[in-house]
Amino acid sequence: MSDLSATERCVKCGLCLPHCPTFALTGNEADSPRGRIRLMQLLDQTEIPLSSGLFTHLDQCLQCHACESMCPSKVPFSDLMDTARARLEAIRKRSFGQRLARRVGLAFAASRGLRRIGSRVIHAAQRLQLDKAALRLPLSTTARHSLLALAPAGDPRSRPAPGNQSPAGRIQLFTGCTGDALDRTTLAASRRLLSRLGYAVDEPSGQGCCGALHQHNGELQTAAHLADINVAAFRGEDPVLCFASGCAARLQDYARYSNAAARLAQRSVDILGFLAERGKPAAGFAPLRARVALHLPCTHRNVLQQTQAITEVLGWIPELDVITVNPDGGCCGAAGSYMLSQPDMSARLADGVADRIRDSRAGLLLTTNIGCALQLRATLAARQQPLEVLHPVTLLERQLAD
Ligand code: SF4
Ligand code: SF4
Repeated sequence: MSDLSATERCVKCGLCLPHCPTFALTGNEADSPRGRIRLMQLLDQTEIPLSSGLFTHLDQCLQCHACESMCPSKVPFSDLMDTARARLEAIRKRSFGQRLARRVGLAFAASRGLRRIGSRVIHAAQRLQLDKAALRLPLSTTARHSLLALAPAGDPRSRPAPGNQSPAGRIQLFTGCTGDALDRTTLAASRRLLSRLGYAVDEPSGQGCCGALHQHNGELQTAAHLADINVAAFRGEDPVLCFASGCAARLQDYARYSNAAARLAQRSVDILGFLAERGKPAAGFAPLRARVALHLPCTHRNVLQQTQAITEVLGWIPELDVITVNPDGGCCGAAGSYMLSQPDMSARLADGVADRIRDSRAGLLLTTNIGCALQLRATLAARQQPLEVLHPVTLLERQLAD
């Protein structure tokens, strides 16, 4: 197993502390990047007995990369946390129910066959209107509303015909494990927008989960295996577009595995970054006199570091008033499976962002990551603060002139 020696790069300067969302919540040094690095160093000294607190404080990290993106000593915090969690996983004691839920969740993400079966079961339940029973299940707010969010929005099979006409070029679309299960609206809008802009859209059939959930939950071998599957699926040299910022961040991290994986990492881009780079389409966009709240996911801000591309492409819509609700940071607490595994911390973080959304007085919320969209949709619904939540791509496609 890889080591934790890079913790030695931390000079304990504390410059990362004001940027850490969990430290801001608890004020506890053990919930800060510097404190967690110290805990990892203790974990590395195997003669010291592990306390439950060590598990708790490492588990409560969001893997938001805020500390890593500003660390002057370039401490590879996320890699270290992945390694630490893999080590903890080997010695962690879980109840049978916890083990089962974890296994099912990770297997569902990794297996196309399981996702297909699960999707059919859920859609059958929706036809029978059994899905509303999800609101009575003993789950966190986000988990309950996530089940409801599985409702089909658009036909996932209605892919645009690739055709021979591709005046703008060819692209490959990464749909990930959640695209056709949890975010069909964005998937359908991405297909339509790219096709209408003249791109030939290919969706390689062998693609699968990006592996981010596994990587950040101590399942490093499975994460590497999922990367291999995507490397095999995405052949050629065309750009690979992701509409979930978490997936784009993960694909760009594939460079660690092999030369072939590094080439896929280089071709992988966030869809809004791609559009911004290509420039405003000649067709133009219909005006929209509305105020929208823009939430910047941690992956878009701290890993892709491309948030200006989002505001740039939204600026193509005349009269649109965009209020960024978290320009200074502020994690919504979704963080992959964090919203399920750490419901209390997650809910407190989501409430902070929901307050800012309320204060913005916007009539629509935009965010670029599916996990953040689920989390904020559920939080706003629970607070009786109903607001439509969309990916910016969906708004662009709606406003694209004929
Ligand atoms: S992680 Fe980086 S910024 Fe934070 S205390 Fe260590 S050296 Fe300083
Ligand atoms: S990754 Fe985020 S939550 Fe974890 S220590 Fe760094 S800033 Fe804090």
